[in-house]
Amino acid sequence: MHDSSVGGPLLWPAGEAWATCSQEHYARRLNTPEEVRTLRRILTRAWRRQKPGDALLTQEERVVVERIHAGHAPRLLPTGPHPLMPVAQLYARDVPDMTCPQDADLLQVLWCPFDDAVEGCSEAVQVRWRRAADVTDILVAVPEPAYIGDDNLIPTPCVVHPEQVREYPSADELEEELWKRLYRWAEGKALSYRGDLSGAPGWKAGGWPAPFTFWEPDEEDERRCPTCQAPTSPLLTVPSGEWDGESGSWRPAGDEPEADVPPYPGNVNPTQVTVSRGYTLQFYGCTSDPRHLPVTVMQ
Ligand SMILES: [Zn+2]
Repeated sequence: MHDSSVGGPLLWPAGEAWATCSQEHYARRLNTPEEVRTLRRILTRAWRRQKPGDALLTQEERVVVERIHAGHAPRLLPTGPHPLMPVAQLYARDVPDMTCPQDADLLQVLWCPFDDAVEGCSEAVQVRWRRAADVTDILVAVPEPAYIGDDNLIPTPCVVHPEQVREYPSADELEEELWKRLYRWAEGKALSYRGDLSGAPGWKAGGWPAPFTFWEPDEEDERRCPTCQAPTSPLLTVPSGEWDGESGSWRPAGDEPEADVPPYPGNVNPTQVTVSRGYTLQFYGCTSDPRHLPVTVMQ
């Protein structure tokens, strides 16, 4: 709780109510957070010991995995409020460019792990800004939701080792003539403007708006603060992996070669978060009052 991290634990005051969501969400299948952790533990262990020709799972493991994959019927979802799950915690000391409200040096992000909940602007996605030194009495018994609707939205806890990078704006942010010139210029240097220079992939604080991959933004209003109509700016980007084939040049130096690690969980997506069908979820914060609910856009 004293480190910048993804997936908790959060530095949370013992005397403050935990963030909750009372909205109704849809899920095809429900699991408990503990079942998600059990599934990941079994699969990680199985892939580590896997030898060619061997079955991946023991009979005992297969029974547990199948039971978890079957899930619980959605009608078991108890009525709210549901405790949110920790997404990220960033200390200002680790993120030099982060614009914090006055007196705050810690950003916490939480969400309600249902596929239909994380996009837009609602109590299903919340931020807290704190001054870490104010939190002297720390909450130990952290509440968890009884059921979650999408195990891809449960981050495997990771300590964050941030690196400051320079990225250039995506083509969406530029005049057509300019980005065409940039694309040609980059090609001449055997680089991809999209993959190597703009929109750094991976979990990211600040930076440019993420490129739109499967739809076109209609209006800028989409990213305005619904509370006060002020413009917003990128706060946090939650991707579905740290890099892909096109953006592999952003891969952290010093990471083990992919061939040296088991394919599960692999090293492309250490948080094990996948946003919908592998998209990017970007959080936009209000520039007038950062404590307003963030706007999230799937891109
Ligand atoms: Zn606002």
